[in-house]
Amino acid sequence: MAGETQGDCLFCKIVEGHIPATIVRETETTIAFRDINPQAPTHVLVIPRVHYANAAELAAAEPTIAADLLREAQTVADEDKLESYRVVFNTGAGAGQTVFHAHAHVLGGRGLHWPPG
Ligand code: AMP
Ligand code: ZN
Repeated sequence: MAGETQGDCLFCKIVEGHIPATIVRETETTIAFRDINPQAPTHVLVIPRVHYANAAELAAAEPTIAADLLREAQTVADEDKLESYRVVFNTGAGAGQTVFHAHAHVLGGRGLHWPPG
């Protein structure tokens, strides 16, 4: 399912203001907020206001909003004064996706190793 918002989706509830979040940025198409279980000094999630299950579905249906996520990731990094950072789109449960509303993880503020776990 895709489109505006989904009643049973955690991140749609954050978009609608029904669940609190530490919001760092908002645009017409996106919201960025701090991850509740941060894995790095900066760990921000950038999400579209519209609901798609993952980044690929968002990109297929709304490519300009998918690009907005990447621009917002850079702005979050700039605002947290990160020289380098990592953007992660977990896609599918096997890759660790637990919330099926597209989101970019923006991670930085510590050394990030490669390959990731
Ligand atoms: P993923 O595992 O890629 O689907 O990422 C989902 C992320 O959402 C995880 O890093 C969680 O820590 C984070 N998360 C879950 N609930 C909340 C919440 N209420 N506020 C902020 N982040 C959350
Ligand atoms: Zn949603």
